[in-house]
Amino acid sequence: MSGSSFEDAGTAVFGPDTLESYRNATSLAIAALQSGYFGSNTPFSGRTPDEIHEDVAETEPFPSAGQSLEAVLERVSSLVCADSVGVYHPQSMAHLHCPPTVPALAAELIVSAMNQSMDSWDQSPAATAVESTLIEGLTSVCGLGAGADGVFTSGSTEANVLGLLLARNWAVADRFDHDAQRSGLPTAAQSLRILCSAEAHFTARQAAGQLGLGDDAVVGIPTDDDHQLSIEALESTIDRLIDDSLEPFALIGTAGTTDFGRIDPLDRLGAVAAEHDLWFHVDGAYGGPLVFSDRHRDRLSGIERADSIAMDFHKLCQQPLSCGVFLLADGEQYDSIDRSAAYLNPDDTGAESSHHLVSKSLQTSRRFDALKPYVTFQTLGTDTMGAGIDSLLKLATDTATLIEANDSLELAARPSLSTVVFRYDPPSNDDATDTTTDRIRDRLRADGTAMLARTAVDGSPHLKFTFVNPRTSLDDVIEVLDAVVAAGRAITESTQSTS
Ligand SMILES: *Cc1c(COP(=O)(O)O)cnc(C)c1O
Repeated sequence: MSGSSFEDAGTAVFGPDTLESYRNATSLAIAALQSGYFGSNTPFSGRTPDEIHEDVAETEPFPSAGQSLEAVLERVSSLVCADSVGVYHPQSMAHLHCPPTVPALAAELIVSAMNQSMDSWDQSPAATAVESTLIEGLTSVCGLGAGADGVFTSGSTEANVLGLLLARNWAVADRFDHDAQRSGLPTAAQSLRILCSAEAHFTARQAAGQLGLGDDAVVGIPTDDDHQLSIEALESTIDRLIDDSLEPFALIGTAGTTDFGRIDPLDRLGAVAAEHDLWFHVDGAYGGPLVFSDRHRDRLSGIERADSIAMDFHKLCQQPLSCGVFLLADGEQYDSIDRSAAYLNPDDTGAESSHHLVSKSLQTSRRFDALKPYVTFQTLGTDTMGAGIDSLLKLATDTATLIEANDSLELAARPSLSTVVFRYDPPSNDDATDTTTDRIRDRLRADGTAMLARTAVDGSPHLKFTFVNPRTSLDDVIEVLDAVVAAGRAITESTQSTS
């Protein structure tokens, strides 16, 4: 469509009948997915970054004249969909990167079309109610008390910053009688320290840096041989910090570390936090959704002691990015970041005044992401969602059993959630394992067999399965493990024959 005004472009833009145009456009988009994405029988095309970039860069990004949506979407199908990661493919097993549920995709159509903005009530009347209702339900599922509050986030990176921001403001007021939002940080804030597992997510350190405390304000508590945080180490670290005249003020409990899925002993961490007057933040980005599992919920025992919680729906709950939440046990702690803007949420006492979400979030204009889990949970119920999580965790333990029984493979540690870390390590392979690992991962990706992740365990490269795809079966895993061993052998043989 090459109209020179919106009016000439007619149905391609808004109307006359916008809904009919949307229906047609949606059909074209689904056709693009069908040919370029769902038609593929591998999880990735295997093409290189340079090849993909060169093809895409051939398109003039801001052409002066347009063309038909059909033509554009056909191009998107071959240029973009075909070189994207097949998240629905059962052998897509690399990251916490899920295939979205169909109910969530239906919700996504509605979210984008209505384009409600979650900052002020007059831009999102019912959407604000949906979000607030879900937050209230989730604070209750997590056992937080009546005064709890929270907000949807772009993910746990944002939720961790928000939690530590509120913790920092609270601590600066509590310890130094100082208003950080108004006056910035006092010199004494240089003594503030945040405690977390040495295997906590990197965003804890990132947040400390962004909050003016510095990356070094984060003190990692050593984990044991099984990657589990030790309470003795936590207590001795706190004693040492206090002896050094430092001021520990926040403790992060991780519910699901990224590599090994370890859940810190939240109950005991909560007790230590209470004893030392620390803000207790739980990073439940990965493992938080265990609250929906009858079988595994107990493993989060102690989460109800949290001052704040980060949780992602876009990992174990199969929601399209982005979809996370931040929960706050004492909603009044939000006062430390309160803002009012005359055009958005003026200081008034009208009926809307308590319904603006803007000052609960780090974002201003914000998507109505809450509709996605709303529709998903209404459609599937927590029984199905919980059972889905249980199956992913069982797949991980079954996979670990297969790896242990295979003398060409070595398991790095027992699984806890849905990740399995291992490496190719046949009895005859003296010290070639480290270099072979990356090459196995690259080879399986290039030939379209499987998407695996790599990580390092004590400095040595390992492979990692991350199961968030309900379509992955143990047979898929067996196939990929066979391919790992075959690739490992081929790589070792070719290295030996050339050396
Ligand atoms: C994924 C993850 C994060 C980061 O969350 P995003 O949703 O990617 O912003 C933080 N902590 C843990 C433990 C995670 O797994």
